[in-house]
Amino acid sequence: MDAAEFRKRGKEMVDYIADYLEKIDKRQVFPDVEPGYLRPLIPDCAPQDPENFEDVFKDIEKIIMPGVTHWHSPYFFAYFPAASSFPALLADMLCGGIGCVGFSWAASPACTELETVVLDWLGKMINLPEEFLAGKDGRGGGVIQGSASEATLMSLLAARTKTIRRVQSEKPELTEAEIMGRLVAYASDQAHSSVERAALIGGVKIKNVPSDEKFTVCGSTLKKVLEEDKAAGLIPFFFCATLGTTPCCSFDKLLELGPICNKENIWMHIDAAYAGSAFICPEFRHLLNGVEFADSFNFNPHKWLLVNFDCSAMWVKKRSDLTGAFKLEPLYLQHHHQESGLVTDYRHWQIPLGRRFRSLKLWFVLRMYGVTGLQEHIRKHVELSHQFEHLVLQDERFEICAEVILGLVCFRLKGHIHQYALADGAVGVDWTVQLKLIMILCSYILLRMNMIIKL
Ligand SMILES: *Cc1c(COP(=O)(O)O)cnc(C)c1O
Repeated sequence: MDAAEFRKRGKEMVDYIADYLEKIDKRQVFPDVEPGYLRPLIPDCAPQDPENFEDVFKDIEKIIMPGVTHWHSPYFFAYFPAASSFPALLADMLCGGIGCVGFSWAASPACTELETVVLDWLGKMINLPEEFLAGKDGRGGGVIQGSASEATLMSLLAARTKTIRRVQSEKPELTEAEIMGRLVAYASDQAHSSVERAALIGGVKIKNVPSDEKFTVCGSTLKKVLEEDKAAGLIPFFFCATLGTTPCCSFDKLLELGPICNKENIWMHIDAAYAGSAFICPEFRHLLNGVEFADSFNFNPHKWLLVNFDCSAMWVKKRSDLTGAFKLEPLYLQHHHQESGLVTDYRHWQIPLGRRFRSLKLWFVLRMYGVTGLQEHIRKHVELSHQFEHLVLQDERFEICAEVILGLVCFRLKGHIHQYALADGAVGVDWTVQLKLIMILCSYILLRMNMIIKL
């Protein structure tokens, strides 16, 4: 394919994508395919001779789309929201076009510098304390990770190294392996599974801290667990607080937990993967109070801020905690600039060496929506969830089972299913109850969809 054909095909592809998104509601959200559906549809081996673009293009509708789950359909209600927008898609095209691998400042200065600056912008939008920003010569700064799971893993590994070094300086008789064996990380029993996974990968113990009746971890509970573990000879080193938990969007009490972590030399990481986007609205910013005690903070613009996957924004107060833990300087990667607020080698901040120019899509989105446009986007979602909450509350058969704070509404049937069976005159026949529940759910979902479509 030469540039002339690329121009033509590129325009066709843009049209195809625009058509796809414009008419996405006509497609069935979850495909009717069985596992292994695709293999019989394509040859066993890659083609020996080149094929033309038209043949490849035809196979999108024939082979790919029949097996796609349409995350951006207004009828998609699974997992978590996935953000996307036209400015972000355009920026991703440009990212592919530039095609740099920006592992260090020198590997592509714009790739590094835009990321640093745009994460300062985003940090200011959520009013992060100055220490988390890179500025011109700051000790902190932001980085785009692929996912919240990576951000948690990076912070856990950095905390591990930092703690091992500290304990070794205090008790030189302990070997690294002995210290590792005593390290223990903590997170709420409502925390995302990626936190436990980070501990598994990091080879350290992890314990659940019980949440209260509001699904929140408070200071006294953490304190109690820490006292017990310290008395048993363990070394608490990492606490992952969650703002906006996956099951019910509850918020750990940072203002109580932060000072405890600081006093105990425990790295506090904050996972706000979903909820973080809401902090750009002043009325929700109070949910982030206490971030000043954290060592690292993360949220996913790819969940709720109109930037398509992958874009997980992470900030640290001390970049040296990351770079100090993971720095390797083989000859072929060295250059003569010193790491500072202006010069960053992001390879030290992440697990892979290579990285894409992901800040472009964040930059495009922030500029083309503006803070106001993004705030409107968040507010609209929160309003919708309160509308839905209101509908549920009006129906005496249902109850809300966790406080509705942002865009997530948890609700359930009241009492025992059995009662409904009785009321129906169909004692013990579960499927009628289930059918009824499904019908009620469908009507709610339709209502909600109507709202979304009208937007
Ligand atoms: C979605 C979510 C995650 C996982 O996010 P990835 O970016 O897919 O790793 C982690 N924590 C919370 C609280 C989440 O809501």
